[in-house]
Amino acid sequence: MLIVQKYGGTSVANTGRIRAVAERVVRTAEEGNEVVVVVSAMSGETDKLISLAHEVSSNPNEREMDLLLSSGERITSALTAIAIEELGHKAMAFTGRQMGIITDTVHTRARIEKIACQRAEKALSEGYILVIAGFQGVTENEEVTTLGRGGSDLSAVAIASALNAAMCEIYTDVDGVYTTDPNIVPEARKLDKISFEEMLELASLGAKVLQTRSVEFAMKYEVPVVVRSSFNENRGTLVTKEDEDMEKVVVSGVAYDKNQTKITVMGVPDQPGIAAKLFKRIADANIVVDMIVQNVSSDGKSADISFTVPKTDSKEALKLTEAIAGDMEAKGVSQSEDIAKISIVGVGMRTHSGVAAQMFETLAKHGINIIMISTSEIKVSCIINLKYTELAVRVLHDVFELSETG
Ligand code: ADP
Ligand code: ASP
Ligand code: MG
Repeated sequence: MLIVQKYGGTSVANTGRIRAVAERVVRTAEEGNEVVVVVSAMSGETDKLISLAHEVSSNPNEREMDLLLSSGERITSALTAIAIEELGHKAMAFTGRQMGIITDTVHTRARIEKIACQRAEKALSEGYILVIAGFQGVTENEEVTTLGRGGSDLSAVAIASALNAAMCEIYTDVDGVYTTDPNIVPEARKLDKISFEEMLELASLGAKVLQTRSVEFAMKYEVPVVVRSSFNENRGTLVTKEDEDMEKVVVSGVAYDKNQTKITVMGVPDQPGIAAKLFKRIADANIVVDMIVQNVSSDGKSADISFTVPKTDSKEALKLTEAIAGDMEAKGVSQSEDIAKISIVGVGMRTHSGVAAQMFETLAKHGINIIMISTSEIKVSCIINLKYTELAVRVLHDVFELSETG
């Protein structure tokens, strides 16, 4: 069968790790499988390249950033192919462009539009193991693009779908998807399986073990995904369609996100159309607003609107908001970076009540103030002060009995 294996940054962090990856790939091939490998840049490499760019410019051009960042994955794909050949197997490294990954033109967070994989199929039929540079594609005009942070996960899932692979294995530095980040809560429990929907919520709420868009893609095209460790042989977590067992569990996981900023516009005239104007301008700048809260003052004449955006977009969002606040004669704009979003997720919430209340009570009991709240059918999120992030994750993990011993 055809298997796609994606190896993240820590799994290819140095040449020793790359040799270990090559051995695992060769083993999979020798078991009679066709193997397509997708690799990330060596861990820390993408951050390093970003900071180099910021050393030469405070506002580097996104087109050039993509060219720069895509180089990290090129290095590991070539090295991995060389390491596989050294073990006596035919291997060929491909850039995103050579793999035929065509994206839209939105630099630094492009979307995959199609994959023209004839060349890959030919190489596979000739017995090559393919090693694809993750995180990158090319526009119709041959401009190099990247797929957003963590984007090699998306490369892998999309390639698995295009090649009709039996399985997409995501190899990382933890044994699978846990009830929460095992690096924060050592008692976190590994899940044998998780539904696409829950995984999508956890990812978009900050659990970086899988990139959000990769989960979206896997759900849409029903690509079976397994998350497992490249450091051992443990079984991992299957991300799959929801089943009845999953509904019995009320809360499956706790996620946190420290990458948010809160912007507040104070003293906005309480009239129709104000929020529309503000959020349209921000959406036009391709900035995704997450939570929104509006409080009307006691005299009913003005309102405060607070919302959150990713930290990477906060400068731009603040600039736009200040301009609009000026136009609408608001009293002022403030910004807070010391916030975090804490969320609980579970498909069981659809059929169980009182889950949100229990979350709020638990936070209150530990003196953690809730700044904003948002809910959906299968999640509850709260914005809290950044310094309480780890505490909040731990106490919620505890109260919903997610630990190994729970
Ligand atoms: P890679 O470089 O392999 O893509 P990432 O660092 O992107 O790896 O993702 C793996 C990390 O995700 C883990 O080291 C862990 O700290 C973090 N993580 C956050 N939430 C979870 C969770 N619920 N389950 C597993 N890992 C999680
Ligand atoms: N190297 C890229 C990043 O660090 C993509 C990835 O690792 O998936 O975001
Ligand atoms: Mg990742």
